[in-house]
Amino acid sequence: MERLQKVIAHAGIASRRKAEQLILEGKVRVNGKVIKELGTKVKPQDRVEVEGVQIEQEKPVYFLLYKPTGVISSVTDDKDRKTVRDYFPYVEERIYPIGRLDYDTSGILLMTNDGAFANHLMHPKYEIEKTYIAKVKGIPQKHEVRLLEKGVRLEDGVTAPAKVRVLSFDKRKQTSIVELVIHEGRNRQVRRMLETIGYPVVKLKRERYAFLDLVGLNAGEARELTPHEVKKLN
Ligand code: URA
Repeated sequence: MERLQKVIAHAGIASRRKAEQLILEGKVRVNGKVIKELGTKVKPQDRVEVEGVQIEQEKPVYFLLYKPTGVISSVTDDKDRKTVRDYFPYVEERIYPIGRLDYDTSGILLMTNDGAFANHLMHPKYEIEKTYIAKVKGIPQKHEVRLLEKGVRLEDGVTAPAKVRVLSFDKRKQTSIVELVIHEGRNRQVRRMLETIGYPVVKLKRERYAFLDLVGLNAGEARELTPHEVKKLN
């Protein structure tokens, strides 16, 4: 669901400000009924008419991208760096990423133009599990892993309990591969959690998002979510 004035503005009929004016003037109908309330939410299947002319609403689209490192999780960049939007040159809809992965982090990232869907998934209440694989400097010991499992204090508060496993380690190189499953989405959270217990991250990948994984995709490749997957996430 999107706000009515946004839908009108996105249809290219008017600026956001002008769209609001049209609504207040009673010139907008939703499913035949005049709507004068700003901020009324409309669904993609609702019929929106402006001064008697029906507008075309963008159909909702959903993608899963295997984000490579060295790419920014936004749709534009003032420094002209590559963005996740650049992987969808053939998609006309106004898609954007659901949440973010750091510039240096690779892995699974969902993209959509469905605002309600994105808000739903990003809401902490739904506690979507995300699985990260981190390569760290050093070899975390059991009692240190337990700290992460219980929650550690970061500058923006204590983290929720995480599931943590040391998958492997290299004694000679003094590096380890650690799997972390968290459901929060704070800025650089995994890097900060591991740093806090003394193991800086040298490489980070998000391998799973809820029940979705990267099977069949190479870095830089994307696929559409199936209607079943979209339903399951909703
Ligand atoms: N945690 C991080 O530190 N970085 C990410 O990109 C995602 C989670």
